[in-house]
Amino acid sequence: MKAVAITPKEKNSAKLVEMDKPKVSDIKDGRGVLVEVLRVGACGTDREINNAEYGVAPAGEDFLVLGHENFGRVVEVGENVWELEPGDFVVATVRRPCGTSIYDLIGQQDFTTDNEYYEHGISRLHGFWAEFYAESADFLIKVPPKIAEVAVLLEPISIIEKGLRQAKDIQKRLDIWKPKNAAVLGTGNVGLLTVLALRLRGFEVHGFGLQLPDGYLNAELCNAIGATYDSTRELSVTDSVKKYGEYDLIFEATGYSPIVFEAMQTLNENGILILSSVTGGDRKTDGVPSDLINQEFVLGNRVMVGTVNANREHFEMGVKDIALAEAMYPGWLSRMMTHKVEGLENFEKVFDILENGGDYGAIKTYFEVAKI
Ligand SMILES: [Zn+2]
Repeated sequence: MKAVAITPKEKNSAKLVEMDKPKVSDIKDGRGVLVEVLRVGACGTDREINNAEYGVAPAGEDFLVLGHENFGRVVEVGENVWELEPGDFVVATVRRPCGTSIYDLIGQQDFTTDNEYYEHGISRLHGFWAEFYAESADFLIKVPPKIAEVAVLLEPISIIEKGLRQAKDIQKRLDIWKPKNAAVLGTGNVGLLTVLALRLRGFEVHGFGLQLPDGYLNAELCNAIGATYDSTRELSVTDSVKKYGEYDLIFEATGYSPIVFEAMQTLNENGILILSSVTGGDRKTDGVPSDLINQEFVLGNRVMVGTVNANREHFEMGVKDIALAEAMYPGWLSRMMTHKVEGLENFEKVFDILENGGDYGAIKTYFEVAKI
């Protein structure tokens, strides 16, 4: 079968490779499921791995098959798989337990304390930019056929579900928390899905991006579901408080770390700031009013929390939110899926779009590997 792989630590090494088709029996205990890949998403993570910023090959191999955002159809199941059958649509979770951290042992590998982690298409496990994969049913999420068209968005949504679940759990400390006003910093793929998830939960939502709103699809998508959109060139997050009030919840997804300090100063009392950007650079921020921020966090019982990855529960929450979104805002998720590239062999086109996304007006770029 065909797959797209990179050589770790080698820039722009992506190439089409020929591999053996996996088998159900590759997975132990009769829990194997052979999945035909239908669609796979592409994002900054794939670009950064191809750019040799990170990425680790599986033990004993010198290449890594890319891809973590996935959607496929079950072809065959092992004798101990009762929850899936051929023809079912599935999405695979990304991180696998590695067995030494206690969190891995209880299915919370997204909270692992191990430094070596196992993630499909990212670290030590081949990814889903391939025609088939075999996986244990334990790590597959069943997807209803009615949301098949947009289910390749489930993996990115799972990241947001985890963040919002953390916020909910942390805010249980308050006994009563009735948040109303939310800000989402960054309106790319993750930011827009966060705007959606918060609108589904009844928040008043204010999205912020760099680009000016005129003719900007991302801004239009915010407005289409009752959220505002502002360019930070016209209204800073700090100044936005005068217009919208302080925020009970802020979700940061810009990749630009200085904005975090602005966000910290716009939180309401008892508010929570959720950080999701992986900022791999070495930027330092001068002029941070640290006394003021510290005092406000103390006197206002404010919270800041980082969130990464997602476990099975968050994917299951995502399935429900996608279904709800399709019912409440039909067609909205499809509008986000701006760039479809047919065939894994056209991976160079995908990297071109990832690299120059702004010029293409791309929000979500994905491969169609096989027809739904
Ligand atoms: Zn991704």
